[in-house]
Formats: sequence, C-alpha cells, structure tokens
Amino acid sequence: MQRLTLGDFELTAVSDGIYHLDGGAFFGVVPKSLWTRKVKDENNLVPTGLNSVVVRTGERTVLIETGIGNKLPERLVKIYGQPAKLLENLAAVGVAPDDIDVVINTHLHFDHCGWNTVRRGDSVTPTFPRAKYYVQEGEWQYARKPSERDAISYMTDNYDPLIKSGQMQLLRGDQEILPGISLQVFPGHTRFMQAVILRSGGKTACYISDLIPTTWHLDLVWVMSFDLFPVETMESRKRYYEQAIPEKWLTLFTHDPYIPWAFVEKDERGKMTARVP
Ligand SMILES: [Zn+2]
Repeated sequence: MQRLTLGDFELTAVSDGIYHLDGGAFFGVVPKSLWTRKVKDENNLVPTGLNSVVVRTGERTVLIETGIGNKLPERLVKIYGQPAKLLENLAAVGVAPDDIDVVINTHLHFDHCGWNTVRRGDSVTPTFPRAKYYVQEGEWQYARKPSERDAISYMTDNYDPLIKSGQMQLLRGDQEILPGISLQVFPGHTRFMQAVILRSGGKTACYISDLIPTTWHLDLVWVMSFDLFPVETMESRKRYYEQAIPEKWLTLFTHDPYIPWAFVEKDERGKMTARVP
C-alpha cells in the first residue's frame, strides 16, 4: 500500500492484484529483445498490475477504476488469471464498499470496471451501493457494439445494470465532477478513454490509464497492440507530456505492477524517465 498527499487530497494506491498479459500484445511493435531489458517474461507472459486509487478529498471518497473483479468467465480466467484482491485491499486501508461516494471508470474494458458489480447467486448488484459511477457516454455506446477485434474486452454485467438503474452517469466530453476532480478524454486506446485529473493546493496528479499503462510505456512509440488507434495514442501522449512535464504533474499508472505513480521527466537526450517520489 502506498499513500501520499496532494494538497488537501489524500491518495492511496490499492490493487486488485497481478494478472498476466502477453508481452507481444503489451508492447506492440517493440521487439522482444528490447522489452525484455525492462521486464522479465515467463512463457512470454508479463506481470501486469491492476491499480486503483482511492482519493479522499476531505468531503468525499472517490475510487478510480475497479480492476477485474470476480465475474470473469472461466475461459478468460485461464488466460489472464483473476486475482480479485480489490475488496480485501480496500479493507486493509480502512475503506468499506459503503464508504465510496464516487467511482470513476476510465473506459469499460473488463480489467478496468470488473468490481463495479458483484455476482450474488443469479443476480448482479452494485459493489458500491451508495456510489455514483462515471464513464464517457461514447465509451458505453461503443461497448454496446464493439468491433470483432475487442468485443472480448467488454462484459455488459460490469455496467449495464448500473446504467439501467441510473447509478452510472454518462458524460459527454471533458467535465469537472467534483471540486478539483475532472475528467479529460484522451483518444487512442479507445476513442473515448478518459483520464482523471486531480488538483489540490496547487498540485496536480493524473490517472492516465491505458494511454500510458506502465513506466515501461513512456516512450512515444511503445504503444500496446490492444490500442484501437495507435497513432492517436502517440498524439494524445504528446499532448499529455506537453502539459504534464512542465507543470510537474504526478502520473498515476494503471498497469505498472511495481510503481503506482511517478513524475515523468525528459532527460538531456530527450528520453522519457520516471522519477518515483
Ligand atoms: Zn487496461
């Protein structure tokens, strides 16, 4: 568990556990001889984090992202595993499901919204009963009719019951949802993936989600094969770095198994580096 303060906000990194992604899918066009210098694989599988962040603003408790959850079909459990650790890791830092006021999903792939709901017997119910959930409307519209390429990534049980009940709010574009907490769309991984920007006391942090999934993906061309629009990923990363580097934003990483957050910097040779606070 890692914790830090950002102005008046307290940020706690909590994890749903470690799952495994195919290195080729994770690193896209980057040859294995290069990515294995950064991370060791086992049968080509790379350990991948499922990082959520709890933000306590002083008034509200916000949960960014909800991991894989415990509803994954058996055929996918065989491929990825299903650690299902989020609720116990939340309890370990003193957060009960009832404490959560707001849940933010950056997009609706199964490894980002799995604990939105929980299966009890035949019914699927909200894991965080009091929470208001947020996602982009465009992401949900796409999730209803995904391409054959990524249809496997969308599981309607993770969001449709919440939309039907009105508990999940669909956003149209960039928006501030609470004082100091705003959402900003960065296309590339999906068309409507949103980042979460936290601002308090003159400091800024950003949960950039799958736009830059780990500290291994800082280089512009290290783009995942999963991305639907890889060239747009590069454009969105440039736009992010142009603001985040000079303004010294803390970047929060969704899939880094070791480093939940770091400052992204550019060294003298123009190479991106992560400085862990
Ligand atoms: Zn992901």
